[in-house]
This record gives sequence, C-alpha cells and structure tokens, in this order.
Amino acid sequence: MNTSSRKIDPSEKFINEDVINELLSSTAEPSLEEVEAIIAKSMSKEILSVEEVATLLRINNDEHMQKVFETAKTIKQSIYGNRIVMFAPLYISNYCVNGCTYCGYKCSNEFPRKILSDEELQKEARVLVEMGHKRIVIEAGEDYTNCPVDYITHAMDVLYKTKVDNGALRRINVNIAATSVENYKKLKAADIGTFILFQETYHEESYKSYHPTGPKSNYLYHLTAMDRAMEGGIDDVGIGALFGLYDYRFEVLALMMHRDHLEEKYGVGPHTISVPRIKKAKDVSVDDMQYAVSDEDFKKLVAIIRLAVPYTGIILSTRENAEFREEVVNLGVSQLSAGSKTDVGGYQDDEKMENQFELADHRSQEEIIESLLKKGYLPSYCTACYRTGRTGDRFMQVAKNGTIQNLCQPNALMTLSEYLEDYCDDELKALGNKVIEANIDKIPSDKMRAKTIDRLQRISDGERDLFF
Ligand code: SAM
Repeated sequence: MNTSSRKIDPSEKFINEDVINELLSSTAEPSLEEVEAIIAKSMSKEILSVEEVATLLRINNDEHMQKVFETAKTIKQSIYGNRIVMFAPLYISNYCVNGCTYCGYKCSNEFPRKILSDEELQKEARVLVEMGHKRIVIEAGEDYTNCPVDYITHAMDVLYKTKVDNGALRRINVNIAATSVENYKKLKAADIGTFILFQETYHEESYKSYHPTGPKSNYLYHLTAMDRAMEGGIDDVGIGALFGLYDYRFEVLALMMHRDHLEEKYGVGPHTISVPRIKKAKDVSVDDMQYAVSDEDFKKLVAIIRLAVPYTGIILSTRENAEFREEVVNLGVSQLSAGSKTDVGGYQDDEKMENQFELADHRSQEEIIESLLKKGYLPSYCTACYRTGRTGDRFMQVAKNGTIQNLCQPNALMTLSEYLEDYCDDELKALGNKVIEANIDKIPSDKMRAKTIDRLQRISDGERDLFF
C-alpha cells in the first residue's frame, strides 16, 4: 500500500485538542451537587457529555470519588449483572515495519520474526479451543509484504474451520494496523467480529514522537481508521488508548470525542473501549515514564468510562495482575482475557518467541475461571450477538431497551454450561453449576427463563452451540 493513498485532509481530525486542553486547564473541585447531577444522569443510562466527563476527572475529594465508584458498580451490575465475557489474544505475526518506541515488536528490535503457517494456526486454534475459548482477537504487526491483509483473512478462515470435538472458535475479532476501506471490506467478508484498534495516544504531538517511523507515524490515517472500517461495512468497532503515553485525562476525553464522532457520523458508537496500560518490553523501559498511570488513577478512569458509556463494553487484559484485575472488574469491566500469550505461536509452546510486552496475570484460563466463579461472577463464552447480526446500532437498540437482559444472561449461562461440560474437572463443574443455579433467576422474562432451563438440560444431554 503506497503512502500517498494514506493522505487524510486535516479537517478530518475530530479530536479538538483546544477544547480538551481548556477543559483540563480547570482544576476546580466539582461541588457535591455537580457530581450528584452527573451521577443521576448516568444512573438513567444516558451517555455523558465530554464536559461532564471532564468534571468527573477533576474529582479529588475521596468521598465524591467513592460515589463515582459506587455508581460504576451499580451500573455495571444493572447492565452486565455478574457476567464477564472471556476471550484470548492470538498473535499470528510479529513482522513489523513500524518504529513505535513503546513496542517490543518495533522494527529496530532484532529477533527472529515469525508468521504462522496454516498448520501452526490450526495448532494454536486447537490449544485455545481446548482451553474452552470461543472468542479470540487476532493480533499482528504491520507489514504488507510479509503479512498482507489477505493473509489475515486466510488465517481467519483456517481458524474458524478448526474444530476439536465439540469446540470451535466462534468469533474472531481483529486488532491489526489501520488500513483501507477495501481491506476492511475483505475483513468483513471473512466474518470479522469487532475491528479493534487503539489510538495509542490521541495527543498528536506525542503520537508523532512515539511513532517516529513507518506507516503508523501518520496520525490522521490512524485516527480515521474506524471511519474507513465503517465505510467498509464493519459496524462493530473497538477503540482504546495505551495509558501511560500521555496524560490519562486527555486520553479519556479524546476517547469520548471519538465516541461522539462515530455516533454522529455513523449512528453507532464503539462497541468496546480497551484500557491497556503500558508494560515493559524488549528495549522498552517503563521505569521513568512521565505519564505512568497509578493504580488509583486507573480505577478512576475505568469507573468514569463506565459512567460515561454504560452500554459500551470495557476490556481489561492480562497486562494487569490478578488481584488488581478482580478489583477493577467490579468498577465496570465487562470483558477479560485469560490464559493469554503475546508471542507468536505462544500457545503451542514449542519454542519461545519474543513477547510484544510483559504480562502480569500469568494464571491459567482454568485458574481465572475458578477465581471468578468463587467470587460469584458468571464467566461467559457467548458469541451470539455477532452471529445473529445484533451488531452496531441493532445491538445498541436491544441494549438500551433492556431486551438484552433476556438474551445475554441465558447465553452466558448456556456457554458456561458448555464450558463446564467439556473442559472442566468435577470440582470446577460443581462450582460452576452452583453459579449457574444462582443466576437463573436473574433472567427477567418467565418465558426466557423456562426456555433456558430447557436448553441447559439439552446441553447436559450433549447438544452444543445453543443461543438466543
Ligand atoms: N499493529 C497493530 C497496530 O498498529 O495497532 C496492532 C496492535 S498491537 C498487536 C496491539 C497493541 O498492543 C497496540 O495497539 C498497543 O497499544 C499495545 N502495546 C504495544 N506495546 C505495548 C507495551 N509495551 N505495553 C502494553 N501494550 C503495548
């Protein structure tokens, strides 16, 4: 792909840095009345404005912040209940022509580069399926010679077709570099779930210094990727920022501007927001990063995002350690990765390749599930929305009118039941079945509850892949 086709008119920049800076220039602590008015708005599940989010970010008073945390928990509970959607990343190529200073895969780092063959893709898929995963995110560096988009779509086909006994990967999300409308159309035709791309930092000047070389150094092309994805027919997109590169408050406000832009232009905001925090990597030290985000600030930003976009999924990866993840889940996270590897071919464990960055939650998928179950969470392997075409604005409609409660809860229970039947020992199965029993009553409709009980019996009798 030549770089002239990547020229974007500067007027396309929808992040207004002046507005953000102006909002951040005030440090005045909001009054209790102001905080309570915003909390009331978000309790009625209305999306918060950029200005309201800026007000919440100015909170310094512990009592006021505590109210925000409590609200985040309440909103999370009322929309997502105890459900946590599980997924795993799958690194399929570490070839990269970019020089992103924070990334272990940057082109200046010398180590053997690798792209998975069909056989290796199948092996990785088998391991993931045997772990119980149904939803993955393909990850790859940017290199159109060694890893063109046609390879990515081919890999998706290989992965979707790999079956092991009752299991298969049912939803493949993709996190690859910003690309053209034509390539997004190819990803759509290959049955992509969500197209995920992090802006890294929305602050243009900082973006340029972190991305000195390679096609990714084009801020505007990267920023407008979701527009091209939408034009290419992908209405399910996931945005995010790499926290630690710039002032986290700037990133949160910019994420809200990105949300507003997508809502205004395409009628649907992001399906998910990811909140990765920067980690140590090959030739990347995080020791004296000026904008490192503390745990307290991280909890604050997650809770504020939950209040700001009640229906948007929040994704937390294994970059965070086990204890902290379980704390943050409470504040509004709706999707967790588990048992993750960030090296190419990492699941089959034949030979260890270079990691993109260091992980902090090293527990196995089973250990994570056990821990979630013990705390009363309901791990969900559901992929139904995308497979029934409930994406984009169709998803938002059912989410906002509450119908989703009669779909997500049964689907979570049924996919957990499949997981317990197929991949767990008796002890974990007993624990999981208790959680299923405790959560059946939380299906609002009598009819759907009865249907779910019937389907749980059918799963126990051997049927698979039942969903609403
Ligand atoms: N090559 C694609 C791109 O250009 O966006 C795919 C992204 S990469 C496989 C996935 C994400 O990992 C990046 O978007 C970045 O936010 C994150 N990442 C890179 N280096 C990291 C580090 N040192 N610590 C934590 N996350 C990192």
